[in-house]
Amino acid sequence: MAIDYNSYEHYNAAEPREQGSSTRAVHAGTQRRKAFSSLTTPIVQSATFTFEDTADLCDFMDKKIWGDGLDREEYGRYGNPTIWAVEERLAALDGAEDAAIYSSGMAAVTSLLLTVLKSGQHIVMTDDCYRRTRQFCLTVLKKFGIETSVVPMGDYEALEAAIIPKKTRLIISETPTNPYLRVADLERLMEIAKASRVLTMIDTTFATPVNLRPVEWGIDFVLHSATKYLGGHNDILAGVITGRADRLKALKDSRGVFGNVIDPQAAFLLERGIKTLGIRVQQQNRSAQAVAEFLESHPKIERVWYPGLESHPDYEVARSQMTGFGGVVSFEVAGSLEDTSLFIDRCRIPYIAPSLGGVESLIEQPALVSFYELTTEERLKVGIKDNLVRFAIGVEDTDDIIADLDQALAGIPDRRLEVAWEARFRL
Ligand SMILES: *Cc1c(COP(=O)(O)O)cnc(C)c1O
Repeated sequence: MAIDYNSYEHYNAAEPREQGSSTRAVHAGTQRRKAFSSLTTPIVQSATFTFEDTADLCDFMDKKIWGDGLDREEYGRYGNPTIWAVEERLAALDGAEDAAIYSSGMAAVTSLLLTVLKSGQHIVMTDDCYRRTRQFCLTVLKKFGIETSVVPMGDYEALEAAIIPKKTRLIISETPTNPYLRVADLERLMEIAKASRVLTMIDTTFATPVNLRPVEWGIDFVLHSATKYLGGHNDILAGVITGRADRLKALKDSRGVFGNVIDPQAAFLLERGIKTLGIRVQQQNRSAQAVAEFLESHPKIERVWYPGLESHPDYEVARSQMTGFGGVVSFEVAGSLEDTSLFIDRCRIPYIAPSLGGVESLIEQPALVSFYELTTEERLKVGIKDNLVRFAIGVEDTDDIIADLDQALAGIPDRRLEVAWEARFRL
């Protein structure tokens, strides 16, 4: 049988919604029969694509101009079969019509904003949002005459009040947020967006499609930094936007102009990582819940931020809208900046590094990673305490992770005694 290298028949394309996340993560979007009868998606490492003869070229151009079912590309910046396979997979996982992947999460979000917005328009953004996204809106977009209002996460009256009729084009939020794991109430957010006819974008990197699919609430654009859970192995940078097909078409067109396309090799690694997304995230959900409960009952921990704990301000929303609460737990050590660093240095399993979502646990003290140049007072103004720790759980055994945290905490001074002593004797 002749192999049609260009055929792009989807696995169960008619019923992806009925399948679970793990089945979709393995199968959705791939051809049943691939080039060379390869089981895995071939890496089409080619910068350009050839034409048989001039008639073949003209046939391609006709289809391109009249929009008549293109099944190939002309040049690597516009697309690539390895990339299409991953896009189909991600769209199916998010329950969206289409997806566009990029060379990083920031490439995805900046391209989206530059594509859908124009000078004179306005963005409403919730705080506790990814620092670089906020920076892009408040500096780069501002230069082009696009203003941004930042409102407190969870304050829906403020969100509604910030919308300027005929000017606000987009609401941007994140769920769960970094580092406090605040969860957006997508139902309330959509009510406001619909009433004022404003587009919505949700960065749901921390949730993954396993725990939350914002498209189901009617969110227009869903963003994932695929560098995190989707890739899952701390070995690639990638980003994705999912949403309605006509809007994704515009994004893919602008990507061909901006040039921030992902390399086919990285696209392949992303697809390879996605296959285990379901089991990885379920394990990370379970470990994070156990770690959060362990820390909450530990005397040397002042406060734990995890949406799966009743003590979290968004516990109820998270329970009603998410199927899992993710693999990141933030907490405050009962002690100083130095006590907290000592605790981190004593941990043996997690690496000290920014990022999250990979198989290796990572730990960081936000005061010293993202906010190093600020003083304690300046950090407090942006809501970052010196004793805050962000722990991004990997896929190691839950018991080993907890035992490691326990031994690390055992080695730091118990400041609670001093605090109690001071309070008692007013030292
Ligand atoms: C990492 C991250 C980004 C940026 O993604 P990159 O792949 O690093 O460019 C955006 N949003 C969130 C929530 C992230 O964690």
